[in-house]
Amino acid sequence: MTKISADFYTEIKKFGTDDFQACFNCGNCTAVCNLTDKDNAFPRKLIRYSVLGLEDEITASLDPWLCYYCGDCTTTCPREANPGELMMTLRRYLSSSYDWTGLARKFYTSKVFELSAIAFLALVILLLFVFFHGPMTTDLTSEGGVKLNTFAPWKTIEAGDWLMAGFLSFFLLSNVFNMFRKVILSRKDLKIPMAIYFTELKHLVFHFISQWRFSDCETGKTSFLTKLKTGNYNYWVVHFFLMTSYVTLFTMIVGFLGWFQTDDIHSWWHPQRLLGYYATVGLLFGTIYFFVLRIQKKNEKSKNSHYTDWTFLILLFLTTFTGILVHLFRINGLPMATYYLYVIHLMILFPMLMIEVPFSKWSHLAYRPFAIYFSNVIKATEAVSKKK
Ligand code: SF4
Ligand code: SF4
Repeated sequence: MTKISADFYTEIKKFGTDDFQACFNCGNCTAVCNLTDKDNAFPRKLIRYSVLGLEDEITASLDPWLCYYCGDCTTTCPREANPGELMMTLRRYLSSSYDWTGLARKFYTSKVFELSAIAFLALVILLLFVFFHGPMTTDLTSEGGVKLNTFAPWKTIEAGDWLMAGFLSFFLLSNVFNMFRKVILSRKDLKIPMAIYFTELKHLVFHFISQWRFSDCETGKTSFLTKLKTGNYNYWVVHFFLMTSYVTLFTMIVGFLGWFQTDDIHSWWHPQRLLGYYATVGLLFGTIYFFVLRIQKKNEKSKNSHYTDWTFLILLFLTTFTGILVHLFRINGLPMATYYLYVIHLMILFPMLMIEVPFSKWSHLAYRPFAIYFSNVIKATEAVSKKK
């Protein structure tokens, strides 16, 4: 039986837009969308669900994750119902509906809660350093660098990193499992052969690494060569650069900290420094690029910035900036500046990862590729059923 939620409009408004009420169901938005197809006809279907308050249908839908926010639907909507922004709002709403802790909902609906959580986690890091830091020494290494590992031994920091990575993985993956429950297990009509979960895994891996639908969003579903020729895929290029940068940095600090956080100053061409520079340039360039887009508000996807978009960008930028300062102070032999900046750097990095990865903006890194994977699993199952 279809359940209608009378409060859905009030509920969805807390996560972003309420313009969708103006929709008169003409279908222009779906007609212009580069990413929609006959199996996932969005955004109109989702707008109808939202207007009617069909909460269960929305939480069981993958469509919001299959939209990469080009904004074409919004610019062609005759009623200014802002369908692109509704899809964005629904992604926030869905992230909250998968999250069993209730924290995602709090972060997305209360600025005060988000800022308090950031301040609290920053304070935890500060107190840990106040009570447990190693000796602060003004002695320099033979190359003139700061002895950072005397103050913050990499083995201790690495143990903390692993604890944090375990926390992030547990909450993010349990939320992905909830997504699976709502989208796949709730479908009583769907009997998915186990083999299909394996044969479709390639989509999960490919889209996790490439985020390829961002480029389809800009240029339509064309080949890589056509995209190269038209050159209209800047957003995907910058997003890819940014994504590979933070994945590189995350891998180095969680998996290889002993190799990354050294007191030795390697030559600039050493892989440790080259990977660090790649990640730093990617993060700096990417965050500034998205800051400028959001300030200029020239294209549809950057016109409506939610406070969580700003928080994420600011934390990412400050993490990068303080990381650069730590590096410069360390190699130039400025011990006190290095030690204080290192603590400040972790006071920004830690809350950013703990909040953004499992509960807020960064969780789309997992939800988007899983949505594409689940969508392909459903399509493959339906294709097998039709053949029978
Ligand atoms: S959102 Fe706009 S374009 Fe889409 S169906 Fe409604 S009125 Fe038409
Ligand atoms: S924002 Fe772009 S990808 Fe998303 S529904 Fe609208 S037209 Fe489609």
